[in-house]
Amino acid sequence: TLDVAWAQRWARESAAAITAARDELVELDRQIGDGDHGENLKRGFQAVVAKLDSIDVAPELVSDVLKTVATTLMSSVGGASGPLYGTAFLRAAKVSGLATLDAHAVVALLEGALEGITARGKAAPGEKTMVDAWGPAVDAAVAAADAGATPVEVLEAAARAASAGATQTTGLVATKGRASYLGERSIGHEDPGAASSALILQAAVTAAR
Ligand code: ADP
Ligand code: MG
Ligand code: MG
Repeated sequence: TLDVAWAQRWARESAAAITAARDELVELDRQIGDGDHGENLKRGFQAVVAKLDSIDVAPELVSDVLKTVATTLMSSVGGASGPLYGTAFLRAAKVSGLATLDAHAVVALLEGALEGITARGKAAPGEKTMVDAWGPAVDAAVAAADAGATPVEVLEAAARAASAGATQTTGLVATKGRASYLGERSIGHEDPGAASSALILQAAVTAAR
């Protein structure tokens, strides 16, 4: 069930996945950015876990948890990805003021996240950013929900698509963010923010099992 406990596990699984991938994300960002993405996000998600541990009033709604994730990431992640992920989780929270998510609500959550990233960063699909993970994730989620998938199956479809989308950023030229300074030389490297986005969506699936 995609309930409040799931949302809390999602945050914790994200922290674990990001921490495990810290060096890999740093290495990706070293290729086309400034080499801090893994450290930025590790610090941010560890702050999220600390925040969740310190809250003594049990959250009642999925949105309560996502709002905590959002504000903590915004205040603790340096770099472009902090406000981007912060806005993503804030918009996701806006549409998930529920105790339990059905398939439609999962789609709305993912659409909210993508809208937040787009509103904040103004990147279009194909610009080699985290949009190239969240965009395919939303499309896959919509298709799965339309086909009658369960909420967890919708998440699984989204995570698979995000992972494929992240891999496909390797072939793209970056035209937004720090990697755009490299122009054509950004080709051949996976976008770190797309890679971390795929990990975070996979963590949502792990948390549902
Ligand atoms: P910084 O570039 O400030 O060091 P990070 O390294 O933490 O920040 O994050 C870089 C990631 O942020 C990129 O890999 C990309 O996915 C994402 N990003 C940067 N700018 C944008 C944007 N305008 N829209 C969407 N995502 C972006
Ligand atoms: Mg960076
Ligand atoms: Mg930086």
